[in-house]
Amino acid sequence: MSSYGPAKRIVGLDKNVWVEFSALAAETKAVNLGQGFPDFATPGYMIEALKEATTHANPLMNQYTRAFGHTRLVNALAALYGKFQNRTIEPTKEILVTIGAYGSLFNSIMGLVNPGDEVIIIEPFFDCYKPMVLLAGGVPKYIPLKPRENAESTKDWILDPIEFAAMFNDKTKMIIVNNPNNPLGKVFTKDELTMIAELCKKHNVICISDEVYEWMIYTGNKHERIASYPGMWERTITIGSAGKTFSATGWKLGWGIGPENLMKGLRVVHQHSVYCCPTPLQEAVAVGLETELARFGQPDCYLTSLAEELEEKRNKVCKVLHEIGLEPIVPDGGYFILADVSKINVDFDDGTSDTRDYKFVRWLTKNVGVATIPPSAFFSDDHKYIGEKYIRICIIKEESTLEKGLELLKTLNK
Ligand code: PMP
Ligand code: GLN
Repeated sequence: MSSYGPAKRIVGLDKNVWVEFSALAAETKAVNLGQGFPDFATPGYMIEALKEATTHANPLMNQYTRAFGHTRLVNALAALYGKFQNRTIEPTKEILVTIGAYGSLFNSIMGLVNPGDEVIIIEPFFDCYKPMVLLAGGVPKYIPLKPRENAESTKDWILDPIEFAAMFNDKTKMIIVNNPNNPLGKVFTKDELTMIAELCKKHNVICISDEVYEWMIYTGNKHERIASYPGMWERTITIGSAGKTFSATGWKLGWGIGPENLMKGLRVVHQHSVYCCPTPLQEAVAVGLETELARFGQPDCYLTSLAEELEEKRNKVCKVLHEIGLEPIVPDGGYFILADVSKINVDFDDGTSDTRDYKFVRWLTKNVGVATIPPSAFFSDDHKYIGEKYIRICIIKEESTLEKGLELLKTLNK
């Protein structure tokens, strides 16, 4: 054995909720309502497009493509986001295609944050934001969305405007906003995003807008794009995911979109780490985006039909959770539900020093056969108590999977 160990900058960053709980789900063969991925098929025409790309008459379709994004894909992204952000987007300068949305998050943070810069993170937050900021030498500053008393919906989880304004100072370089939010399913309103935008402008702060669930919006809510607000394009990177958009999380393709001067930072990290993303996947995603843009507004458009299907699932799952006393925080978007398990009276202590929800989720997976995710993973140490009384349930699953999972959860009530 050599005496080498991990580099100092990664010490303490080894724990990862997906690694532990996905392994546990697989090991126990539990009904998997944990990590966020659909258990149903990716749209058939996209599978065909991928086959077609790999067998294309042009053999170069299986070789490296343009470093910053396959030309057909960046053109399709410029057309789609140009329409929804209401501006002309320059495909070769203002878009970067990355390995998943993860890639765009990493490139943005590593490419734009200097050591000592403060980065405001709104909680609950997608867990990788914290280690990414730390790897860049930045200083994460957390502000939680707080539930009002007897919160029933994600609309009851709010940012305190005074506390929020006080987070900004001379050292603040960036804020990361996840809209719709994972794990809460909150869809930020125009008023909330305007408050964020005004503070970004006042303090000259970059906004990373992680919008991977942009198409999963339920009735009565609207997806607002902060990059389209006055004065925000020049300071925002909007991040999207083909995996989420097309129910193809294993394709791991995402993108960052923003002004050329900011995109330069992302490109440098990308070109020295990944260089270019898989060509056939990019070709197939381009076909997907072109197809959905052409049929936008029609009932068969996947961008909207998936949200309709999900809304039915949300309604059914929330109803059952309510009936069995696992009170849900009804989401307005995304594909997760937080359910309050604090009233379940079982002994789930596993002797670790972990938070309550970690212990409960381990117990639930092993003893009841339903895998979920502990929400305190999405909070900083000081605020884990906010997430501890919930479990996160993934609803982008076949009816039969959801039914099986809910039947098992009902046994908690007996
Ligand atoms: N951001 C959020 C909020 C997520 O939930 C996820 C998980 N998909 C990602 C980014 C990463 O997306 P991808 O799988 O495209 O890397
Ligand atoms: N975004 C997905 C989730 O929240 C997957 C996360 C991951 O695989 N790291 O479950």
